Amino acid sequence: MQDAWLEKHGFKNAGTWPEVSSRDWRSWKWQFAHRMMDLGTLEKRTGLTREQRTAMGQDLGLPVAVTPYYAALIASSGSTALRRMALPLPEEAMDTDNAFDDPLAEEAHSPVPGLVHRYPDRVLLSVTATCPLYCRYCTRRRYVGRPHHADPNAWWDYLGAHTEVREVIVSGGEPMTLADPALQRLLSRVRANEHVQVIRLSTRTPAVLPCRITDRTAQMLAEFQPLFVLTQFNHPAECTLEAFHAVQKLRMAGIPVLNQMVLLSGVNDNAGTIAELGRRLLVMGVKPYYLHQMDAVKGTAHFRVALDRGIAIMRELRRSVSGIATPKYVIDLPQGGGKVALAPNYVVEYSGTRAWLAGTDDRLHMYEWPEPGNENTEKTREKT
Ligand SMILES: *Cc1c(COP(=O)(O)O)cnc(C)c1O
Repeated sequence: MQDAWLEKHGFKNAGTWPEVSSRDWRSWKWQFAHRMMDLGTLEKRTGLTREQRTAMGQDLGLPVAVTPYYAALIASSGSTALRRMALPLPEEAMDTDNAFDDPLAEEAHSPVPGLVHRYPDRVLLSVTATCPLYCRYCTRRRYVGRPHHADPNAWWDYLGAHTEVREVIVSGGEPMTLADPALQRLLSRVRANEHVQVIRLSTRTPAVLPCRITDRTAQMLAEFQPLFVLTQFNHPAECTLEAFHAVQKLRMAGIPVLNQMVLLSGVNDNAGTIAELGRRLLVMGVKPYYLHQMDAVKGTAHFRVALDRGIAIMRELRRSVSGIATPKYVIDLPQGGGKVALAPNYVVEYSGTRAWLAGTDDRLHMYEWPEPGNENTEKTREKT
Protein backbone atom coordinates (compact mmCIF):
# COMPACT_ATOMS: atom_id res chain seq x y z
CA MET A 1 0.00 0.00 0.00
CA GLN A 2 1.26 3.45 -0.92
CA ASP A 3 2.03 6.00 1.79
CA ALA A 4 0.21 8.64 -0.28
CA TRP A 5 -2.98 6.58 -0.11
CA LEU A 6 -2.51 5.97 3.61
CA GLU A 7 -2.03 9.71 4.17
CA LYS A 8 -5.41 10.31 2.54
CA HIS A 9 -6.84 8.07 5.24
CA GLY A 10 -5.21 9.94 8.12
CA PHE A 11 -1.87 8.14 8.54
CA LYS A 12 1.07 10.51 9.12
CA ASN A 13 4.73 10.21 10.03
CA ALA A 14 5.41 10.80 13.72
CA GLY A 15 8.40 12.98 12.85
CA THR A 16 11.96 12.83 14.14
CA TRP A 17 14.54 14.94 15.96
CA PRO A 18 16.71 16.58 13.31
CA GLU A 19 19.95 16.12 15.29
CA VAL A 20 19.52 12.34 15.46
CA SER A 21 20.67 10.23 12.49
CA SER A 22 17.89 8.32 10.80
CA ARG A 23 19.79 5.12 11.53
CA ASP A 24 19.73 5.79 15.28
CA TRP A 25 16.13 6.96 15.13
CA ARG A 26 15.06 3.70 13.51
CA SER A 27 17.00 1.57 16.00
CA TRP A 28 14.75 0.36 18.82
CA LYS A 29 17.75 -0.04 21.09
CA TRP A 30 18.69 3.61 20.54
CA GLN A 31 15.07 4.62 21.18
CA PHE A 32 14.93 2.49 24.33
CA ALA A 33 18.24 3.82 25.63
CA HIS A 34 17.06 7.40 25.06
CA ARG A 35 13.73 7.10 26.81
CA MET A 36 12.97 10.39 28.51
CA MET A 37 12.48 10.05 32.23
CA ASP A 38 13.32 13.44 33.70
CA LEU A 39 11.47 16.71 33.82
CA GLY A 40 14.04 18.76 31.88
CA THR A 41 14.09 16.53 28.80
CA LEU A 42 10.33 16.06 28.75
CA GLU A 43 9.86 19.80 29.13
CA LYS A 44 12.13 20.45 26.17
CA ARG A 45 10.60 17.81 23.91
CA THR A 46 6.92 17.87 24.76
CA GLY A 47 6.31 21.17 26.60
CA LEU A 48 4.73 20.18 29.90
CA THR A 49 1.65 21.84 31.36
CA ARG A 50 1.82 23.27 34.89
CA GLU A 51 -0.05 20.23 36.28
CA GLN A 52 2.34 17.83 34.54
CA ARG A 53 5.33 19.68 35.97
CA THR A 54 3.81 19.41 39.45
CA ALA A 55 3.18 15.70 38.97
CA MET A 56 6.79 15.10 37.90
CA GLY A 57 7.87 16.19 41.39
CA GLN A 58 5.51 13.80 43.18
CA ASP A 59 5.81 10.20 44.29
CA LEU A 60 3.69 8.53 41.60
CA GLY A 61 4.50 4.89 42.25
CA LEU A 62 5.07 4.35 38.52
CA PRO A 63 8.14 5.76 36.75
CA VAL A 64 7.76 8.16 33.85
CA ALA A 65 9.36 7.10 30.56
CA VAL A 66 8.56 8.26 27.03
CA THR A 67 10.25 7.02 23.86
CA PRO A 68 11.69 9.71 21.56
CA TYR A 69 9.31 8.33 18.90
CA TYR A 70 6.24 8.93 21.07
CA ALA A 71 7.52 12.35 22.18
CA ALA A 72 7.91 13.32 18.53
CA LEU A 73 4.37 12.08 17.89
CA ILE A 74 3.03 14.10 20.84
CA ALA A 75 4.74 17.19 19.41
CA SER A 76 3.74 16.65 15.76
CA SER A 77 0.12 15.66 16.46
CA GLY A 78 -0.48 18.24 19.19
CA SER A 79 -2.84 15.64 20.65
CA THR A 80 -3.84 16.18 24.27
CA ALA A 81 -5.07 12.57 24.30
CA LEU A 82 -1.55 11.24 23.69
CA ARG A 83 -0.08 13.58 26.32
CA ARG A 84 -2.61 12.32 28.84
CA MET A 85 -1.62 8.68 28.25
CA ALA A 86 2.13 9.29 28.53
CA LEU A 87 2.65 12.19 30.95
CA PRO A 88 1.59 12.15 34.61
CA LEU A 89 -0.98 14.35 36.36
CA PRO A 90 -1.14 15.19 40.08
CA GLU A 91 -4.34 13.05 40.36
CA GLU A 92 -2.10 9.96 40.16
CA ALA A 93 -0.73 10.65 43.61
CA MET A 94 -4.21 10.93 45.13
CA ASP A 95 -5.70 8.09 47.08
CA THR A 96 -9.27 7.48 46.02
CA ASP A 97 -11.96 5.30 47.56
CA ASN A 98 -12.85 2.01 45.92
CA ALA A 99 -9.49 1.64 44.22
CA PHE A 100 -7.01 -1.16 44.74
CA ASP A 101 -3.40 -2.13 44.04
CA ASP A 102 -4.54 -5.43 42.56
CA PRO A 103 -8.25 -5.10 41.68
CA LEU A 104 -8.34 -8.28 39.59
CA ALA A 105 -6.83 -10.37 42.39
CA GLU A 106 -4.04 -11.48 40.07
CA GLU A 107 -1.79 -12.25 43.02
CA ALA A 108 -4.38 -14.67 44.41
CA HIS A 109 -4.47 -16.44 41.03
CA SER A 110 -0.71 -16.56 40.74
CA PRO A 111 0.52 -20.04 41.68
CA VAL A 112 4.13 -19.08 40.90
CA PRO A 113 5.61 -15.55 40.62
CA GLY A 114 4.85 -13.86 37.28
CA LEU A 115 2.26 -16.43 36.15
CA VAL A 116 -1.52 -15.82 36.39
CA HIS A 117 -3.87 -18.76 35.93
CA ARG A 118 -7.47 -17.53 36.23
CA TYR A 119 -9.26 -19.26 33.36
CA PRO A 120 -8.90 -23.04 33.14
CA ASP A 121 -7.37 -23.17 29.65
CA ARG A 122 -5.31 -19.93 29.59
CA VAL A 123 -2.23 -18.81 31.43
CA LEU A 124 -0.71 -15.34 31.44
CA LEU A 125 3.04 -14.86 31.82
CA SER A 126 4.33 -11.51 32.98
CA VAL A 127 7.77 -11.86 31.42
CA THR A 128 9.15 -8.45 32.40
CA ALA A 129 8.13 -5.41 34.43
CA THR A 130 9.87 -2.96 32.08
CA CYS A 131 8.25 -0.85 29.35
CA PRO A 132 9.51 1.59 26.71
CA LEU A 133 6.74 3.95 27.85
CA TYR A 134 4.84 3.77 31.13
CA CYS A 135 1.14 4.29 30.36
CA ARG A 136 -0.28 6.45 33.13
CA TYR A 137 -3.40 4.26 33.41
CA CYS A 138 -1.39 1.02 33.91
CA THR A 139 -3.35 -1.78 35.58
CA ARG A 140 -0.23 -3.49 36.88
CA ARG A 141 1.40 -0.42 38.40
CA ARG A 142 1.79 -2.40 41.63
CA TYR A 143 4.91 -3.98 40.10
CA VAL A 144 5.51 -2.46 36.66
CA GLY A 145 8.61 -0.24 36.44
CA ARG A 146 10.26 -1.96 39.44
CA PRO A 147 12.59 -4.94 39.77
CA HIS A 148 10.64 -7.95 38.55
CA HIS A 149 9.99 -10.99 40.71
CA ALA A 150 9.47 -13.77 38.22
CA ASP A 151 10.71 -17.32 38.24
CA PRO A 152 10.90 -18.73 34.68
CA ASN A 153 11.96 -22.20 35.85
CA ALA A 154 8.84 -22.36 38.00
CA TRP A 155 6.74 -21.32 34.95
CA TRP A 156 8.08 -24.19 32.87
CA ASP A 157 7.46 -26.68 35.70
CA TYR A 158 3.93 -25.34 36.16
CA LEU A 159 3.13 -25.35 32.43
CA GLY A 160 4.50 -28.87 32.01
CA ALA A 161 2.31 -30.12 34.84
CA HIS A 162 -0.86 -28.32 33.69
CA THR A 163 -1.86 -30.06 30.50
CA GLU A 164 -5.28 -28.32 30.55
CA VAL A 165 -3.57 -25.10 29.41
CA ARG A 166 -4.23 -24.54 25.69
CA GLU A 167 -3.16 -20.93 25.42
CA VAL A 168 -0.26 -18.94 26.81
CA ILE A 169 -0.43 -15.16 26.90
CA VAL A 170 3.00 -13.56 26.88
CA SER A 171 2.56 -10.21 28.58
CA GLY A 172 4.36 -7.88 30.97
CA GLY A 173 5.34 -5.10 31.35
CA GLU A 174 6.29 -5.05 27.71
CA PRO A 175 7.48 -8.47 26.49
CA MET A 176 9.09 -6.88 23.44
CA THR A 177 11.65 -5.11 25.62
CA LEU A 178 13.31 -8.52 25.37
CA ALA A 179 15.65 -8.67 22.39
CA ASP A 180 14.83 -11.18 19.65
CA PRO A 181 17.14 -14.01 20.87
CA ALA A 182 15.70 -13.84 24.41
CA LEU A 183 12.14 -13.69 23.09
CA GLN A 184 12.87 -16.63 20.80
CA ARG A 185 14.23 -18.72 23.70
CA LEU A 186 11.17 -17.88 25.76
CA LEU A 187 8.70 -18.78 23.00
CA SER A 188 10.60 -22.05 22.39
CA ARG A 189 10.16 -22.96 26.06
CA VAL A 190 6.43 -22.29 25.76
CA ARG A 191 6.19 -24.34 22.54
CA ALA A 192 8.07 -27.23 24.17
CA ASN A 193 4.74 -27.99 25.91
CA GLU A 194 2.87 -30.11 23.40
CA HIS A 195 -0.51 -29.41 25.00
CA VAL A 196 -0.20 -25.67 24.29
CA GLN A 197 -2.06 -24.77 21.10
CA VAL A 198 -1.99 -20.99 20.87
CA ILE A 199 0.47 -18.29 21.90
CA ARG A 200 -0.66 -14.70 22.34
CA LEU A 201 1.92 -11.94 22.45
CA SER A 202 0.58 -8.73 24.00
CA THR A 203 2.59 -5.71 22.98
CA ARG A 204 2.16 -1.97 22.86
CA THR A 205 5.35 -1.49 20.79
CA PRO A 206 3.51 -0.92 17.47
CA ALA A 207 1.97 2.17 19.12
CA VAL A 208 4.90 3.48 21.18
CA LEU A 209 8.03 2.01 19.56
CA PRO A 210 7.11 0.68 16.10
CA CYS A 211 10.73 0.22 14.98
CA ARG A 212 10.90 -2.67 17.48
CA ILE A 213 9.17 -4.83 14.83
CA THR A 214 11.77 -5.64 12.18
CA ASP A 215 11.35 -8.09 9.31
CA ARG A 216 13.59 -10.47 11.21
CA THR A 217 11.44 -10.18 14.36
CA ALA A 218 8.31 -10.91 12.34
CA GLN A 219 9.91 -13.97 10.73
CA MET A 220 11.12 -15.24 14.09
CA LEU A 221 7.62 -14.87 15.60
CA ALA A 222 6.06 -16.61 12.61
CA GLU A 223 7.96 -19.78 13.54
CA PHE A 224 5.80 -20.09 16.64
CA GLN A 225 2.41 -20.15 14.94
CA PRO A 226 -0.39 -20.38 15.79
CA LEU A 227 0.62 -17.09 17.38
CA PHE A 228 -1.55 -13.99 17.67
CA VAL A 229 -0.14 -10.53 18.28
CA LEU A 230 -2.38 -8.35 20.45
CA THR A 231 -1.56 -4.68 20.02
CA GLN A 232 -2.85 -1.75 22.05
CA PHE A 233 -3.77 1.32 20.04
CA ASN A 234 -6.02 3.64 22.06
CA HIS A 235 -6.31 6.65 19.78
CA PRO A 236 -6.34 7.20 15.99
CA ALA A 237 -3.30 9.53 16.24
CA GLU A 238 -1.26 6.47 17.31
CA CYS A 239 -1.97 4.92 13.90
CA THR A 240 1.01 6.49 12.13
CA LEU A 241 2.77 5.42 8.95
CA GLU A 242 5.51 3.92 11.17
CA ALA A 243 2.88 1.91 13.06
CA PHE A 244 1.31 0.80 9.77
CA HIS A 245 4.62 -0.55 8.48
CA ALA A 246 5.39 -2.31 11.79
CA VAL A 247 2.03 -4.10 11.72
CA GLN A 248 2.44 -4.83 8.01
CA LYS A 249 5.65 -6.78 8.73
CA LEU A 250 3.76 -9.02 11.15
CA ARG A 251 0.86 -9.54 8.77
CA MET A 252 3.10 -10.27 5.78
CA ALA A 253 4.76 -12.96 7.92
CA GLY A 254 1.28 -14.49 8.31
CA ILE A 255 0.65 -13.42 11.91
CA PRO A 256 -2.91 -12.36 12.78
CA VAL A 257 -3.05 -9.05 14.65
CA LEU A 258 -5.83 -7.98 17.01
CA ASN A 259 -6.16 -4.80 19.06
CA GLN A 260 -7.11 -4.36 22.68
CA MET A 261 -7.87 -0.81 23.77
CA VAL A 262 -8.77 0.80 27.06
CA LEU A 263 -11.69 3.21 27.45
CA LEU A 264 -9.96 6.30 28.88
CA SER A 265 -11.55 9.50 30.07
CA GLY A 266 -10.19 12.51 28.17
CA VAL A 267 -8.51 10.23 25.61
CA ASN A 268 -11.07 8.23 23.66
CA ASP A 269 -14.35 8.35 25.59
CA ASN A 270 -16.55 9.25 22.64
CA ALA A 271 -17.95 7.23 19.75
CA GLY A 272 -16.32 9.41 17.08
CA THR A 273 -12.77 8.71 18.31
CA ILE A 274 -13.37 4.98 18.74
CA ALA A 275 -15.04 4.74 15.32
CA GLU A 276 -12.09 6.49 13.67
CA LEU A 277 -9.64 4.23 15.50
CA GLY A 278 -11.62 1.19 14.34
CA ARG A 279 -11.50 2.36 10.73
CA ARG A 280 -7.73 3.00 10.89
CA LEU A 281 -7.13 -0.39 12.48
CA LEU A 282 -9.00 -2.05 9.62
CA VAL A 283 -6.82 -0.19 7.12
CA MET A 284 -3.85 -1.67 9.01
CA GLY A 285 -5.50 -5.10 8.75
CA VAL A 286 -5.98 -5.25 12.52
CA LYS A 287 -9.20 -6.58 14.04
CA PRO A 288 -10.46 -4.56 17.05
CA TYR A 289 -10.90 -7.20 19.76
CA TYR A 290 -11.63 -5.67 23.18
CA LEU A 291 -12.57 -2.26 24.52
CA HIS A 292 -11.63 -2.55 28.19
CA GLN A 293 -13.46 -0.76 30.95
CA MET A 294 -10.74 0.62 33.25
CA ASP A 295 -9.87 -1.54 36.22
CA ALA A 296 -10.25 0.14 39.63
CA VAL A 297 -6.51 0.66 40.09
CA LYS A 298 -5.19 3.17 42.62
CA GLY A 299 -4.02 6.43 41.07
CA THR A 300 -6.07 6.08 37.87
CA ALA A 301 -9.52 7.36 38.93
CA HIS A 302 -9.18 10.31 36.52
CA PHE A 303 -9.18 7.84 33.61
CA ARG A 304 -12.27 5.88 34.65
CA VAL A 305 -15.41 6.37 32.52
CA ALA A 306 -18.96 5.78 33.80
CA LEU A 307 -20.23 2.35 32.79
CA ASP A 308 -23.48 3.71 31.33
CA ARG A 309 -21.47 6.12 29.21
CA GLY A 310 -19.42 3.24 27.85
CA ILE A 311 -22.63 1.40 26.94
CA ALA A 312 -24.06 4.52 25.27
CA ILE A 313 -20.86 4.72 23.19
CA MET A 314 -21.36 1.10 22.08
CA ARG A 315 -24.93 1.90 21.04
CA GLU A 316 -23.72 4.83 18.97
CA LEU A 317 -20.96 2.73 17.37
CA ARG A 318 -23.50 0.11 16.27
CA ARG A 319 -25.26 2.66 14.12
CA SER A 320 -22.22 4.48 12.79
CA VAL A 321 -19.45 2.02 12.00
CA SER A 322 -18.77 -1.40 10.46
CA GLY A 323 -19.21 -4.41 12.70
CA ILE A 324 -15.67 -5.58 11.98
CA ALA A 325 -14.34 -2.17 13.11
CA THR A 326 -16.14 -2.48 16.45
CA PRO A 327 -14.51 -4.02 19.53
CA LYS A 328 -16.35 -5.97 22.20
CA TYR A 329 -16.77 -3.90 25.37
CA VAL A 330 -15.64 -5.85 28.43
CA ILE A 331 -15.13 -5.33 32.13
CA ASP A 332 -12.70 -7.41 34.15
CA LEU A 333 -14.62 -7.88 37.40
CA PRO A 334 -13.02 -7.09 40.74
CA GLN A 335 -11.78 -9.91 42.99
CA GLY A 336 -11.00 -12.11 40.01
CA GLY A 337 -14.60 -12.39 38.75
CA GLY A 338 -13.25 -12.58 35.21
CA LYS A 339 -14.01 -10.62 32.04
CA VAL A 340 -17.65 -10.20 31.06
CA ALA A 341 -19.19 -8.40 28.09
CA LEU A 342 -21.03 -5.10 28.47
CA ALA A 343 -23.54 -4.33 25.74
CA PRO A 344 -26.56 -2.15 25.14
CA ASN A 345 -29.82 -3.96 25.81
CA TYR A 346 -31.87 -3.80 22.63
CA VAL A 347 -34.74 -5.95 23.92
CA VAL A 348 -37.34 -3.52 25.26
CA GLU A 349 -40.06 -6.01 26.16
CA TYR A 350 -40.86 -9.73 26.09
CA SER A 351 -44.42 -10.98 25.78
CA GLY A 352 -45.06 -14.70 25.29
CA THR A 353 -43.54 -15.68 21.98
CA ARG A 354 -42.73 -12.12 21.03
CA ALA A 355 -40.16 -9.48 21.82
CA TRP A 356 -39.95 -5.82 20.96
CA LEU A 357 -36.51 -4.56 20.11
CA ALA A 358 -35.11 -1.07 19.60
CA GLY A 359 -33.63 -0.77 16.12
CA THR A 360 -30.74 1.40 14.99
CA ASP A 361 -33.50 3.42 13.25
CA ASP A 362 -34.83 4.42 16.70
CA ARG A 363 -38.05 2.48 16.17
CA LEU A 364 -39.45 -0.57 17.92
CA HIS A 365 -39.51 -3.80 15.97
CA MET A 366 -41.37 -7.00 16.79
CA TYR A 367 -39.75 -10.43 16.50
CA GLU A 368 -41.73 -13.65 16.94
CA TRP A 369 -40.86 -17.34 17.49
CA PRO A 370 -42.91 -20.60 17.64
CA GLU A 371 -45.06 -21.54 20.64
CA PRO A 372 -43.27 -23.77 23.14
CA GLY A 373 -44.67 -27.30 22.89
CA ASN A 374 -44.46 -27.20 19.12
CA GLU A 375 -40.89 -28.54 19.23
CA ASN A 376 -42.16 -31.83 17.81
CA THR A 377 -42.43 -30.29 14.35
CA GLU A 378 -39.33 -32.27 13.34
CA LYS A 379 -40.90 -35.57 14.46
CA THR A 380 -44.13 -34.85 12.63
CA ARG A 381 -42.15 -34.21 9.52
CA GLU A 382 -40.23 -37.49 9.90
CA LYS A 383 -43.51 -39.47 9.98
CA THR A 384 -44.91 -38.04 6.81
C1 LIG B 1 -7.70 -11.20 30.05
C2 LIG B 1 -7.06 -12.39 30.55
C3 LIG B 1 -7.02 -13.56 29.78
C4 LIG B 1 -7.59 -13.66 28.39
O1 LIG B 1 -8.96 -13.45 28.33
P1 LIG B 1 -9.72 -13.56 26.92
O2 LIG B 1 -11.13 -13.22 27.26
O3 LIG B 1 -9.55 -14.97 26.45
O4 LIG B 1 -9.09 -12.59 25.98
C5 LIG B 1 -6.40 -14.67 30.34
N1 LIG B 1 -5.88 -14.65 31.57
C6 LIG B 1 -5.92 -13.54 32.34
C7 LIG B 1 -5.33 -13.58 33.70
C8 LIG B 1 -6.49 -12.37 31.85
O5 LIG B 1 -6.52 -11.27 32.60
